[in-house]
Amino acid sequence: MPGTGLREIRQGRSTVSPIPSARLPRRGMRGPAIHSGPMTTLKPTFESSARVGIAARTEALFRSSGALRDGHFLLKSGRHSSAYLEKFAVLSDPAATSELCGFWAGHFRARGEVGDGLEIDLVAGPTTGGVILAFETGRQLGTRAFFAEEVHAGGHPRREFRRGFRIEPRERVLLVDDILTTGGSLLAMIPAVEAAGGEIVECVVLVDRSGGMSTLTSPTSGRRYALSALWILDLPTYEPGPAACPQCADGVELDAPGSKGAAAG
Ligand SMILES: [Zn+2]
Repeated sequence: MPGTGLREIRQGRSTVSPIPSARLPRRGMRGPAIHSGPMTTLKPTFESSARVGIAARTEALFRSSGALRDGHFLLKSGRHSSAYLEKFAVLSDPAATSELCGFWAGHFRARGEVGDGLEIDLVAGPTTGGVILAFETGRQLGTRAFFAEEVHAGGHPRREFRRGFRIEPRERVLLVDDILTTGGSLLAMIPAVEAAGGEIVECVVLVDRSGGMSTLTSPTSGRRYALSALWILDLPTYEPGPAACPQCADGVELDAPGSKGAAAG
């Protein structure tokens, strides 16, 4: 079972479970073709050998699945980037997705086992990537798993639990999502959990592209919830043109992934 025998390292509010070495393939600890540049950064509170290993392995899985590509890309924002993130390339690889969810499942555990505040009753995520991540994390934890759907009503983005999904009062909920940019998807589902009386244990994402958010503040209650990422990714973007964009300056052909993927900017 996940969690048994794991030594906990407490660092402030954050608790990091060292991953047993058997779960991290030796090759993956370094990861193939990882940038030597300043692409990967870690929040100081998470600095530990386990965190570094998890971040490296997450980057390796994103690269090996083709989810992170190097090149010269036109983003939806109109800016240029030298890398592009297509999260569904990794989410369409069940083995990779299962391994990533295993980092969370190894950290949290089903309620009633330990009593250290990390017990989970159910895992929930926002559509669409969160459906897959909640399912697999819940499967590994042995908890329920479901998802929140976007509701188009009024001016503000909102998410609801539909299809008979119910959170009972005081149930402990782990929120999962794929890529964090502004936190909008998770922020939009927090009120639905709070309205049901659920207790959000933590919000976790595969990749944090926000520049290092460590909490999410509920737009309705004002409560702050801890947020952590397996991997923090800082992808610089540039104004188009040789004056600002290095790839334009080098004459690299521009790729416009457009609506095929989630733009990296
Ligand atoms: Zn360019």
